Amino acid sequence: MSSKPVKGTLFVISAPSGAGKTSLAEGLLASVDGLAFSVSHTTRRPRKGELHGREYFFISVDEFEAMIEQGAFLEYACVYESHYYGTSRAFVESKLAEGIDVLLDIDVQGAMEVRRKVPKAVLIFVFPPSFQELKERLRKRGLDGDDEIERRLAIAAQEIADYRHYQYLIINDDLGKSRDELKSIVLAVRCQSKRRRQAAQRISDTFERETAAPQSD
Ligand code: 5GP
Repeated sequence: MSSKPVKGTLFVISAPSGAGKTSLAEGLLASVDGLAFSVSHTTRRPRKGELHGREYFFISVDEFEAMIEQGAFLEYACVYESHYYGTSRAFVESKLAEGIDVLLDIDVQGAMEVRRKVPKAVLIFVFPPSFQELKERLRKRGLDGDDEIERRLAIAAQEIADYRHYQYLIINDDLGKSRDELKSIVLAVRCQSKRRRQAAQRISDTFERETAAPQSD
């Protein structure tokens, strides 16, 4: 990270493909203020309904590699061994400096890189209820063929093995409950005393003033 003062918190959410992370992230962004979603850059092609600048910034491999050279990414990874994905350093740093929290939806490799660079980042991992359930969800969503589903399941097994590096775990067997849990994590982090020091000091000053010079009437 740069030398800019960091006032906001960086939240990172990771999950195996199909565990429900995107819908959890959307629910979170709709229900809490002061949280900005970091739109990643990727070299994969847009899927039906995806928009440049909304789901991702869709760029070429040459453009992506030029951005790597410029140090434009806080982290980047080659996900599913096929496409580059990266988080804009400038976006994250400017939001955090403004005191706005930032949410990253990134894979486990990227999350481990963020953890090294931003040790205060809050890492949240979303588990599917079971292997069978994940397989079923990937089939039902109809985005990938059988081979791709098998590949995603194998990668899911590797990703799940890293869950111990995350401070918070959500087991997504019920979307409503998982949404509540995710929101609770963000709100609880915001209530940490180190994040409330300025406000606490302001209030504590008013007590000091009043008790040091009591009114005569
Ligand atoms: P999809 O192609 O299905 O949108 O995303 C594939 C995976 O890439 C997901 O696990 C998603 O979280 C991850 N991903 C998206 N953006 C980034 C990024 O900027 N960095 C990293 N490391 N992973 C990302």
